[in-house]
Amino acid sequence: SAEQPALEVEDVSLAYGPIAAVSGVSLRVPRGAVVAIVGANGAGKTTLLKAICGLMPVASGRIRFEGRDITALPAHRRVTAGIALSPEGRQVFPDQSVADNLELGAYARGLSAQAMAAAMEEQFAFFPRLKERRNQAAVTLSGGEQQMLAISRALMAGPRLLLLDEPSLGLAPLIINDIFRAIARLRDGGMTILLVEQMANLALAIADTAYVLETGRVTLSGRGRDLLRDPQVRSAYLGAG
Ligand code: ATP
Repeated sequence: SAEQPALEVEDVSLAYGPIAAVSGVSLRVPRGAVVAIVGANGAGKTTLLKAICGLMPVASGRIRFEGRDITALPAHRRVTAGIALSPEGRQVFPDQSVADNLELGAYARGLSAQAMAAAMEEQFAFFPRLKERRNQAAVTLSGGEQQMLAISRALMAGPRLLLLDEPSLGLAPLIINDIFRAIARLRDGGMTILLVEQMANLALAIADTAYVLETGRVTLSGRGRDLLRDPQVRSAYLGAG
């Protein structure tokens, strides 16, 4: 139904051996929304994304995608189900060309050559810079271009839920603005987005709803713009008193 959220995380806990990384986290991502998870270094944001895309097993709790329980589904089947991750640190294949990186993103779809070309053109229309550099090795791209490539590669999987891990990481402020404008364009196109960010000001400004994660627990949640004004959030994450 229209009311059914894209993603529901229910009381999920994760650990690295004896070390708890995420403890009893619940969140929901409505269809077509941008939901942000903000929090300091080591709060458990990346670990939670890994659980959602199946790169790490949960210790307890449930994960549902479009109403279906995917808690035990292997990662590649979550990709075909419609969940794609743009990972922290981009992780593009450095020696492969831009075009080859994009093709790899669509690997699980088994597209015809024609459909592959069309999917790639769609990405080039979205990020024209990538088209100009389609035959260059990914390693030769700037940080911002590599981030665009990482997002595009995830989109090549044809997801209905896009997970973005720290898209601002290591980028200059002007480039970060470009990336956030691209995220807004994706949202305007109807994409459902779960965004993990240390840059809380940017994430909260774009997010319909947001969750604050502290040492593996959700300590606050609400509308992005409300959290942006929250004194506790401002002093802890926005460098304001
Ligand atoms: P960052 O932005 O630095 O990635 P984060 O909020 O994404 O931070 P996580 O990377 O999810 O946080 O880490 C959560 C906790 O789990 C931290 O205490 C971290 O030290 C620990 N952790 C992360 N990865 C591992 C690992 N491979 N082995 C052991 N502990 C880990």
